[in-house]
Order: sequence, then structure tokens, then C-alpha cells
Amino acid sequence: MSARILVVDDVPANVKLLEARLSAEYFDVMTASNGTEALAICARAECDIILLDVMMPDMDGFEVCRRLKTDPATHHIPVVMVTALDSPSDRNRGLEAGADDFLTKPVSDVVLIARVRSLTRLKMMTDELRMRAITSLEIGMQAPERSAVADTGKGGRILLVDDRQSSYERLATILAAEHTIDVEPNPTEALFHAAEGNYDLLIVSLDLNNFDGLRLCSQARSLERTRHVPILAIADPENSTRLLRGLEIGVNDYLLRPIDKTELLARARTQIRRRRYTDHLRDNVQNSIEMAITDALTGLHNRRYMESHLATLAEQASTRGKPLALMILDIDYFKSINDNYGHDAGDDVLREFAVRVRKSIRGIDLACRYGGEEFVIVMPETDLHVAGMVAERLRRSIAGEPFAVHKGSKRIEVTISIGLTTLEQKGEAVADVLKRADTALYRAKHDGRNRVVSQAA
Ligand code: GH3
Ligand code: MG
Ligand code: MG
Repeated sequence: MSARILVVDDVPANVKLLEARLSAEYFDVMTASNGTEALAICARAECDIILLDVMMPDMDGFEVCRRLKTDPATHHIPVVMVTALDSPSDRNRGLEAGADDFLTKPVSDVVLIARVRSLTRLKMMTDELRMRAITSLEIGMQAPERSAVADTGKGGRILLVDDRQSSYERLATILAAEHTIDVEPNPTEALFHAAEGNYDLLIVSLDLNNFDGLRLCSQARSLERTRHVPILAIADPENSTRLLRGLEIGVNDYLLRPIDKTELLARARTQIRRRRYTDHLRDNVQNSIEMAITDALTGLHNRRYMESHLATLAEQASTRGKPLALMILDIDYFKSINDNYGHDAGDDVLREFAVRVRKSIRGIDLACRYGGEEFVIVMPETDLHVAGMVAERLRRSIAGEPFAVHKGSKRIEVTISIGLTTLEQKGEAVADVLKRADTALYRAKHDGRNRVVSQAA
């Protein structure tokens, strides 16, 4: 995994130093000597991670970071502030500006590479999701960046796993100012608790009595329900080598004791914002998958989905030697509903029609909108006789109760015609089954509409 790292520093010697170390680990390194140059490179989406010097003439690192994090086009790029002063107030200013992490000069090799690797993983994952979400953005769905930029990161649900009472009481009090916090002092219960609780953040102490906190972190990473929940580890300074191990197995961030209040709050907010952002992206991807197979007006499956799934159902029926029934339903004189009551009333009828169809079929039946006012229902393990009864029940559920249109101000009589058939022999082409159902439908129309016609093969 080769990531592109942008090193920004006004002192050429500092740039050279970081460049050499990162290149030795096979990262692609780009450099900039001031904020303006750095912003331009980020705007062109040419880098994956930024190592940003704090003290620079013209525009300082805080300002560069703030601009990157408030621009929807760049806000997802991880920013690591590189500071000469290891003062809490400096770190806090950076975290307030939205920085993802800190490195203190002189930068330790191990920490540098561990942080860059961990952020690279995160960036790759977000990039993948962003790419997949582009489709949904193109069709006009809410851009996740917009809400992410506006998100304060407050109001999260946090689980704190820590068995030292003095420690967890202090941390819980600090965090409770901005979040809902649960404490789990028993590490053997923690994984279960985490999986049940729908948390935005896990904070795990690595100094637990008789328990390896890293094991808990790695279990949380492999469990489906906690896989995407960020983990913030807490450790005594003498445990810092274990922290590096933690970053390798997927811990997102860490804090060393004694814990600074402002830094704890800032790091928790960053992780929670990030969690919400990736959740948004994931939802968008899920939505676009659903939209690709669903008819927007009726919520039924669309024709494309039906055609591919019907082939699978037919094959299953053949190999298992089970019957498969298929019907085509067509609303009678639908054009005149549009003509007499308007297109919106026609849409109301289609929506209500779909509701009644769903009520009349089983979960395993597949209902789809085949065309304008034409629908197909596929019923696995159903023979012609039973399917005939279902079709008749459906016909009656439409004709028996007028349809409300124009927000209920008008009610109109609607009827449907249904053509019905079954898959007859092994390996019969689904196109032939559809054609037979269509012929039956044609006869139903011809014979006077509002009726079911069955056609055996
Ligand atoms: P028949 O009984 O023979 O089926 O007559 P029909 O009027 O139902 O059939 P025809 O195929 O002539 O007309 C179907 C109409 O459905 C024409 C089209 O404008 C309308 N239509 C197709 N899709 C939609 C839609 O999404 N909303 C609305 N309101 N009308 C639609
Ligand atoms: Mg019709
Ligand atoms: Mg028609």
C-alpha cells in the first residue's frame, strides 16, 4: 500500500529529513514550503496524508489545517501537525483546527511510520467509500461532506473500558460534558457490552489488571458489530511500545497518562466526527445499491432486477423439481385515469396498487414494476391452481375497494387484468414463460378485462 504523503515545512532541512525517512518506507513523498502551495496540492487531490509544520511565515499550520478541514473537497484528508513545542496549548489549538494527530520534533522514526501507516489505512478505506458514493451524489443525494463539515463531534455515545476507579471516574466526568458515557470496569464483559451498545467510540485502557487491553481492541476489530467503531487507547508512558502495536492492529488514536482534559475532548470529537462521516458514506453506498434495484414510485423491484432474479429462481425451481408461477398484471384503462383525473392521480393509483400487491403476497414472492402500469409477480413453489387463487384474490382486492386520489378528496374505481402461467419443463427459457403470461393477459383484456386468465404450457 503506497500512499502519497505531503510534507509541508518552511525549513528545507526539515523537509529533507522527513522525506528521506518516508521514502525509505516506500511512501511517495511530495513537498511544499508554505501553506498556499500545500492548499493547492490538496485541492488537486494529489496527496493522501499531510504532515504539516506549525510555525511557518505568512500562513501558519493551524490556519492551513482549518482551511483544509472546512472545505468539503479536502476535509477527509488526514492532517498530522508537526510541532517543535510539545506544549498542550499548541496541541489543543491544532486539534481545535481539526488536526488528526501530532508529531513532536525531533520526530521518532517508529512513531512517524506507525502514525502514517494507520492514517493511510483510514484514508484508503474512506477513498473507496467516497468513490462508491459518487454515484449517489450524482443522482442528487445529500453529500456526506456537507454534514460532516458541520458536525461538531459532540453528543456521541462512548464506552470507556477502564478498571481503575480513580481514573474512570475522572475521565467519565470530563467526557460527560459533551457526550453520553458508559463505563465498563470489567474487561471480560467489555466486548459484549460494546457489541450491544451501538457506540460511536470505544476508549480502552491498556493498563488493565490481569487483562490484555490490546486483545480487546483486536477482538473489537474483528467482530462485525464493532468493526467500524473507532478505538481510542489510553496508556501509561512506559507502555508506549504497546501503543504502537495497537496502532498496527487498528487502534485509531491514543492518549498518554496523565490525560489532558482538552486533548481528551478534542480527540474524542475527532474520532466521533470521523465515525459519523464514514457511516454516512456507507449509508449512501447502501442507498445507491437499493436504488439500482428498486422502482422509485412504487418501492417494488424494478424490471432489471426482476429479469436477473427470475433466471435464478427458474433455475432453482428446475433443479429442485418445484413449480414456479408467474403472473403479469395490467391496470385496465389506466390511460383514461390519467386523462380524467391527471397524472398525479395516476401516480397515486400506482402507489396504492403496490401497497395492495404487497399485502396479498408472501415474503418469498417477487413483485416488480415491469413497465408503466404493468407488474410481474413471481411465486416460487406455487402451482397453477394455487397461483390462480392468489391472482383472483388480488383482482378482488383491487376491484373491491375504490382508490383514493388527490389526498383522499376523490375515489376512483380501478380494475386489473391478469395473465398467469407456470414454468413447465426443466430449463425452459424465462423469456418463454413471460411470453406465455403475456398471451394470457392479452386474452384477459380481449375477453372484457377485470379477470384472470391462466395458460398452462
Ligand atoms: P388497457 O386496459 O388496454 O391496459 O388500457 P390502458 O389505458 O391501461 O393501457 P395503455 O397501455 O394504452 O396506457 C397506459 C398508460 O399508462 C399510458 C401512460 O401514459 C401511463 N403511464 C405509464 N407510466 C406511468 C406513470 O408512472 N404514472 C402515470 N400517472 N401514468 C403512467
Ligand atoms: Mg393497462
Ligand atoms: Mg399497458
